[in-house]
Amino acid sequence: MESKTRPHVVIIGAGFGGLNAAQELHAAEADVTLIDKRNYHLFQPLLYQVATAGVQPGDIAYPVRTILRKQKNLDFRMTRATGVDVDKRLVLTRAGDIPYDYLIVAVGGSTNFFGLDSVAANGFGLKDIEDAVGLRNQILSMVERAMQEPDPDLRRAMLTFVVVGGGPTGVESAGALSELVRLVLVKDYPRLNIKEVRIILLEASAHLLAAMPERLQDITYHTLLAKMVEVRFCATVTDFDGEKVTLRGDEVIPARTLIWAAGVQAASFAATSGLALGSMRRIIVNQFLQVPEHPEIFVIGDAAHFEQDGRPLPMIAPVANQGAVIAAQNIRNILQGQPLRPFLYKDPGILATIGRNAAVAKMGNMEFQGFFAWILWLGIHVLRLVGFRNRLMVLLNWAWEYFFYERGVRAIMPNIEKQIKS
Ligand SMILES: Cc1cc2nc3c(=O)[nH]c(=O)nc-3n(C[C@H](O)[C@H](O)[C@H](O)COP(=O)(O)OP(=O)(O)OC[C@H]3O[C@@H](n4cnc5c(N)ncnc54)[C@H](O)[C@@H]3O)c2cc1C
Repeated sequence: MESKTRPHVVIIGAGFGGLNAAQELHAAEADVTLIDKRNYHLFQPLLYQVATAGVQPGDIAYPVRTILRKQKNLDFRMTRATGVDVDKRLVLTRAGDIPYDYLIVAVGGSTNFFGLDSVAANGFGLKDIEDAVGLRNQILSMVERAMQEPDPDLRRAMLTFVVVGGGPTGVESAGALSELVRLVLVKDYPRLNIKEVRIILLEASAHLLAAMPERLQDITYHTLLAKMVEVRFCATVTDFDGEKVTLRGDEVIPARTLIWAAGVQAASFAATSGLALGSMRRIIVNQFLQVPEHPEIFVIGDAAHFEQDGRPLPMIAPVANQGAVIAAQNIRNILQGQPLRPFLYKDPGILATIGRNAAVAKMGNMEFQGFFAWILWLGIHVLRLVGFRNRLMVLLNWAWEYFFYERGVRAIMPNIEKQIKS
């Protein structure tokens, strides 16, 4: 597929940014190689629904080869990129070195535990399918074990679920978890005393959903309270040993489950790339999304530190999607001898759902809440999912849950994923 005369573009990562960039290059006079350590594109915004038994893992993952099978100038390789030799222009991978003329780094992010080793060891992040299935197993196992536990203190600890981080992922996880227990599991466990169940959302600052206007933050807070989620502000976790969560000031919350939704950083590849790093170990790029010392390397999405209005852009999907379009266009422009186009992020708005019939949204100057915002959230997420089958399956799951107060995926599965050594 790779001809000797055509330039070779290598893209690392088939997430939102990498996939989009590959598609944008479909008509380029170049050969494109897309690398990812897994063979599927993952729709991360619905990971919390996998963790709370709302949708199946397969409903939010789609094979990269299937998505791109019609793209003639593209080759996909499933392998992990381990580094880059900028002098020789080689991407180093577990399957050997891959030469490039132009490189797009789109490796995304990873959970940032801010150096809290005990939390990383005993808590649950929410960044990939393994995290989500592991968390689902934990939640369901804790309820099973609690039903057989005669000691009330131990039982309450098993039924206490602490979510850390009041951003969209924390809010959505806490709301979904509360509904899983209150609306669904109570039917499976007639002996479950709902008063013994605690879902606690801890936020280090004084606000939920920092990017939302104050009015929507208040609505979010009150909606969570109505769903029996305890929200604690100015609460900073310092330790979690698997049996109790310790907060700054030495307050202790007995709990067996801690969900960490309090931080992200660029994926480890960024740190091993040898390129200059900015905040959250993201690779610093210029206005054209190029690494300043290596203009043949572009970085997009969660892996890029790009400043606009004096602040780095947030690590969200629209930033990755829009960056992909500009990076691909700039590579095409270089190939055609055209001037480069600077990246200017246009904020399409932010949304967060708090559960059934409840969401908040801000789009431009408009603010939405309640049922309408929830429908907006559902529609946008279904449309953004890759693949008609996945859209249909997610819609069916949601409709089933909405009308019958049921969730279909409540099996405790052994983690059968073996570590792939590629
Ligand atoms: C739980 C959760 C909820 C979220 N909710 C929202 C939301 O509601 N709205 C929103 O806009 N954003 C949301 N986000 C953020 C959004 O998912 C990210 O901003 C977006 O995925 C970034 O796109 P990306 O292309 O930079 O990286 P990703 O989509 O993360 O893709 C990176 C790809 O690179 C691959 N990769 C990583 N390292 C290597 C390597 N060394 N070698 C080979 N391949 C590698 C990965 O396998 C992955 O496929 C959420 C994220 C999470 C985790």
